Amino acid sequence: MELYNSTISEILEQIKARAPKSWGYEPARAWADNGVNELVLTRDAAFELGGGNLPASNCTCVTTEAGLVPEDRIYLVGPDLGELRADTPFARIALLHVNSISGDDQEAFRTIRDMEFVKYHVFPQGYMMRVSPENGREQVRVSRQAVKRGVSFRNIGNSFIRKYKENKLIDHVCIIFVTGDKALCKELAATGKKVDAITLTLNHIMDGLATDCSTCSFKPVCDEVEGLKELHFKKGAAPMKL
Ligand code: SF4
Repeated sequence: MELYNSTISEILEQIKARAPKSWGYEPARAWADNGVNELVLTRDAAFELGGGNLPASNCTCVTTEAGLVPEDRIYLVGPDLGELRADTPFARIALLHVNSISGDDQEAFRTIRDMEFVKYHVFPQGYMMRVSPENGREQVRVSRQAVKRGVSFRNIGNSFIRKYKENKLIDHVCIIFVTGDKALCKELAATGKKVDAITLTLNHIMDGLATDCSTCSFKPVCDEVEGLKELHFKKGAAPMKL
């Protein structure tokens, strides 16, 4: 799976240029999980990540290139949860290194979709995520109680990595959080939209729909992302090569 490689490289470059805080994976540091999304009322909230129409995005990129995600790691650019005093711009990114996806085209595509759905199955106590698939927003209301108990992005990052690693196809996970930097969060929101466009185009290809590029609405994406056209025209002749 190379479709997201250039995007992953761009994201890592942007993040590393800002001297992020960084931690390795320690499952024992994962924050307590409720098993279901907890309702955090406004009156109990310390602040919202991405609240008040500030940028708030998430994106998930998959690669089979081990060098891009060589270990489990958490990065943070900006203030941590215990340092925030008000709503802030926010972005969360998951970079996943998967071992070879085998099976037929549909199975491979389903595997990618399953990895994306992890964001709906992490429920840290006092950390209420609201994800909107329509506009790619991921807004989080953090409770005063969780802040008092010392919740941090190191904890939340470990919670995400632990969940992703339940999928045996995933070798390494890199979770990136960005707060405070509005310009960077806006850029990352745009990157998230680009990643969604690639995934949507992949969906179209998997459905085996029109193969006339001159009339296809996905042409701008296929012109920009190396490998998509190849995938479409190979489809049907042989299993999709991920
Ligand atoms: S390869 Fe051509 S037909 Fe297929 S999705 Fe891309 S632009 Fe559309």
